[in-house]
Amino acid sequence: LNTNTISPILTCLTDIYKRYQPINEGNVATYIPELAKANPDLFGICITTPDGQIYQVGESQHSFTIQSISKPFVYGLALGDHGVEKIMSKVGVEPTGEAFNSIVFDEENNRPYNPMVNAGAIATTALIKGEGYEQRFNRILSMFEGFAGRSLTVDEAVFESERSTGHRNRAIAYLELNAGMLEGNLEEHLDLYFRQCSILVTAKDLAVMAATLANNGINPITQQQAVNPEEVRAILSVMASCGMYDFSGEWLYRIGLPAKSGVGGGIIAVLPGQFGIGTFSPLLDPRGNSVRGIKVCEELSQRFKFHLFDSH
Ligand code: GLN
Repeated sequence: LNTNTISPILTCLTDIYKRYQPINEGNVATYIPELAKANPDLFGICITTPDGQIYQVGESQHSFTIQSISKPFVYGLALGDHGVEKIMSKVGVEPTGEAFNSIVFDEENNRPYNPMVNAGAIATTALIKGEGYEQRFNRILSMFEGFAGRSLTVDEAVFESERSTGHRNRAIAYLELNAGMLEGNLEEHLDLYFRQCSILVTAKDLAVMAATLANNGINPITQQQAVNPEEVRAILSVMASCGMYDFSGEWLYRIGLPAKSGVGGGIIAVLPGQFGIGTFSPLLDPRGNSVRGIKVCEELSQRFKFHLFDSH
């Protein structure tokens, strides 16, 4: 984006916000009581450029839990801890075509299919290095803070809710333990996973995090390197193929940007070298993707020809 396109973008965001605000399709997440309390009217959009310009409309400063959008960032941390070869042997990079919480594994290679679905994300979190729970979690949190460019906190109520009701995730982890796909202290790994999902962010934070990915891992606000450039490519690749769960193929077809959604209502999308988008709207479609968030990204992509495969 250069200065000539900036003003049309802000005008466009305002216009999109007004037109999509009345859309009431979808439902807030109900798998844990805490998320069922989300206000369905909330809606925020933010775009951040690698030179640090921020365009935001609506409730872009409202905090919500990052949920599955944590997965690509923790994947980046695991890659930094162990290198590509080791991580690849533990967690694949193939889309499943299945729901985010599905209990399917790549039996042939004895690993979960990819780090963007729960099975792969839990196995990825299990690989995060550190002495015990506190230190391991602090490494995750610091990395997220590097991406967001500010201090972040955890929604303790969501964390407790995830932890006390996350039996399906617990079952996935125990199956992985049984198959030798992960090792170590399982309950500690699960607590870390539940806690990484419970980190609070805003649409603006998400846009800055996405812009950091668009900017080769350098946070456009703080100018700090949040992750190595090699990891950025790996992260964006799995986002492109697997980031929107069983909608990933259609998302790439229609919108054409690496992206990741979370059941808290957030979506991030990245156009490398150009910008990061963060959207927030808690109304989800049956696959767990934010309804308004998809519409926003689709319209932006079409209007400004952001699709990776548009010729520029
Ligand atoms: N905490 C959620 C879970 O593990 C995250 C899933 C999501 O955002 N899709 O079920």
